[in-house]
Amino acid sequence: KLAGKNTFAFYSADMTRLARRRLELEEALTTGLARKQFELFYQPVWDVASGQLKGAEALLRWRHPEWGLVSPVEFIPLAEETGLITELGGWVLEEAARQIRQWQDQGLDPGVVAFNVSSKQLKRGHFPGFLRQVVTEVGVSPRYLEVELTESSLLALGDRTTELLSEIRETGARLAIDDFGTGYSSLSYLRRFKVDKLKIDRSFVSELSSEGGGLGIVKAIIAMGQAMDLEVQAEGVELDSQLQVLAELGCDSFQGYLKAAPMPAAEFAELLVRES
Ligand code: C2E
Ligand code: MG
Ligand code: MG
Repeated sequence: KLAGKNTFAFYSADMTRLARRRLELEEALTTGLARKQFELFYQPVWDVASGQLKGAEALLRWRHPEWGLVSPVEFIPLAEETGLITELGGWVLEEAARQIRQWQDQGLDPGVVAFNVSSKQLKRGHFPGFLRQVVTEVGVSPRYLEVELTESSLLALGDRTTELLSEIRETGARLAIDDFGTGYSSLSYLRRFKVDKLKIDRSFVSELSSEGGGLGIVKAIIAMGQAMDLEVQAEGVELDSQLQVLAELGCDSFQGYLKAAPMPAAEFAELLVRES
């Protein structure tokens, strides 16, 4: 029916299999939430110039009893479609805030902890209000939290973007644009949005070492960030040669397998002890 009237389609066994798999996954997601099968991993963020640990990005993991560790790439899109993302994303924020508070209570300084928010999650409910409520209840300063929104999700929000972003910033939390360079946001947009950080998408960073188009784009993003007084962070740094180029260009911070992959909270706490 989606393809319009007066068309026909052949039945395919693949389609039923896919539909069944989807249903199975959807049920498993709901059960997973109820049974607390979700967990946050933390990927360290480093200062390019000094090499110091600055914080982390919290990344969602699903520890399924049969399937093992499931990647967010596999379940976030479905969670968005079914609306489960609101509950799941709410849990992510609460868990990250709780974890920061716990580390601080132990005398550790995790720095700024970033977390990802989907545009679907922003559209439903009142996210800025929820954020305010969580930091108050948990007793953590909002300046330790950084909200990551992808460039494409900003565009998906349409008219409400400017208003929502300023409301988020009014809570005292920081704002970062994730996967920057992959969407189509214009410069005037950026000026209006007043974000704190641009995160250069991994695809451009991975092309840095080759003669591909990556270098020009990375150069341009960093120059733009500097001109607009925004922090610039590179994601997916895997090679020393990539870090060298980023340092020469004046990129502020980075995350990537070169230094550390996302890790369970306990491991990140050990890193905090070692680095302090
Ligand atoms: P993202 O926010 O852009 O996160 C960065 C992704 O790059 C992570 O994948 C991370 O593990 C991976 N990565 C980090 N360093 C390297 C590297 O050096 N090389 C390579 N090849 N990859 C690297 P992950 O954890 O699988 O997450 C994928 C995406 O899922 C995230 O992309 C984000 O968009 C989404 N996601 C993760 N957690 C959440 C969440 O809590 N809520 C929402 N809405 N989305 C989430
Ligand atoms: Mg992210
Ligand atoms: Mg990203």
